[in-house]
Amino acid sequence: MTEAIKMKTDIVIVGSGVGGLYCALKLPRDKKIVIVTKEAADKSDSFLAQGGICVLKSEDDYDSYFEDTMRAGHYENNKRSVEIMIRSSRDVINDLVGVGVRFEKKDGEFVYTKEGAHSTPRILFHEDVTGKEITSHLLKAVRALDNVEIIEHFTMVDIIEKDNECFGIIGRDKNGEYTSITADYTVLGTGGIGGLYKNSTNYRHLTGDSLAVALLHNIKLKNIDYIQIHPTTLYSRKRGRRFLISESVRGEGAVLFNSHMRRFVDELEPRDVVAKAIAEEMEKDGKPYVWLSMKPIPTEQIKSHFPNIYKHCLEEGYDVTKEPIPVVPSQHYFMGGIKVDEYSKTSMDRLYAVGETACNGVHGKNRLASNSLLESLVFAKRAANRIAKTYSKAKATRERKIDAEKYKNCEETYKKAVLAAIEKEREKHEQHNDGA
Ligand SMILES: Cc1cc2nc3c(=O)[nH]c(=O)nc-3n(C[C@H](O)[C@H](O)[C@H](O)COP(=O)(O)OP(=O)(O)OC[C@H]3O[C@@H](n4cnc5c(N)ncnc54)[C@H](O)[C@@H]3O)c2cc1C
Repeated sequence: MTEAIKMKTDIVIVGSGVGGLYCALKLPRDKKIVIVTKEAADKSDSFLAQGGICVLKSEDDYDSYFEDTMRAGHYENNKRSVEIMIRSSRDVINDLVGVGVRFEKKDGEFVYTKEGAHSTPRILFHEDVTGKEITSHLLKAVRALDNVEIIEHFTMVDIIEKDNECFGIIGRDKNGEYTSITADYTVLGTGGIGGLYKNSTNYRHLTGDSLAVALLHNIKLKNIDYIQIHPTTLYSRKRGRRFLISESVRGEGAVLFNSHMRRFVDELEPRDVVAKAIAEEMEKDGKPYVWLSMKPIPTEQIKSHFPNIYKHCLEEGYDVTKEPIPVVPSQHYFMGGIKVDEYSKTSMDRLYAVGETACNGVHGKNRLASNSLLESLVFAKRAANRIAKTYSKAKATRERKIDAEKYKNCEETYKKAVLAAIEKEREKHEQHNDGA
């Protein structure tokens, strides 16, 4: 048993992506908040988002936006969650603009782009670095708050729980020292699970730690085998994170070719359909990639709307204004997660989950492009409002020492446990579908 450092706060948030940051920003200023994050605060998938963020651009678009989200999700979406997300979108965008986020405008009006499975342009963007624009402004706003402390390079390894009630977390810093942070409320915002897979667009340190902790404490999970494969990431023999070629590239006209330079799929079908068609084509041709051509997009538009993609591909030896690039599907997004209600509350008292690690059912079986930043923000705000409205002090917990031995190799055991649980859920779904 190790004598741990002890901290006490009102609310502890795990993760500094859009979910965690926006939740902190929306919590009452008279509460002491600690945000812990596994790496530096700006190392989150939220910073990587390229394409944009959806918004209900006018009442006329409501039915169509709702239907597009449902259709992409194979109609397995939770309709109430979809409604909440769409109806709350304008408020969230106004908030973002309020903290200084800049979206593309023309003549003073927002410009909207389109991605696969959207029947109309309704996505706000900032070049092809929308996530960085949004998250860096949220981080700046949170850093300016006196009531929030951010602890970087600190990994949550467990929660403090008794009788299905959460009293905070246990974490380890980069020197291997353990700290217990007790809190009245805990919010998990640890993002996706890409770090569990060889090919993923996600940061490698996102390994679904909250899911592992949930499994340890019998917290309910939902649809954890619903994992989105993005159709187009830049093919590379190098190890590490895969570079995303945003779907809005196809939304603006880019086309896919097989090895015979023939088109083989409608590029604007939902992601799972396009990814499956690419995988089939690769299998047929015996190639590890297909081609994506951005030539239908005017050169000036490529350079102004997709400067990051243009630059990255040049660095990898491809001039996208002149030649096609090799692309391959990769793990990208996690639709399932810790089961939460419409206020982002988990099945455990005093424990909330927000962002990609949570599942409120909004995405169903497959996420519609550019719905995830929005979903993370909308439901993080709802978590903050709910905590504020129902706030009560937690009863004091018994001081306990930390069993450091238990967490010594937890990275590996947690990864295995999550992958095994995903496989179990997949088999359950398959059996259910066979029986249906
Ligand atoms: C390349 C790419 C492009 C994308 N493009 C878009 C887009 O255009 N539009 C869109 O809507 N969505 C997009 N997405 C998805 C979107 O970015 C994410 O779903 C969203 O940002 C998730 O936010 P989050 O706050 O849940 O998690 P993240 O932003 O991933 O943050 C997770 C945080 O948790 C921390 N953490 C993890 N485990 C622990 C632990 N054990 N202890 C402490 N901290 C921990 C991490 O360090 C990190 O700070 C994209 C994703 C990727 C990868």
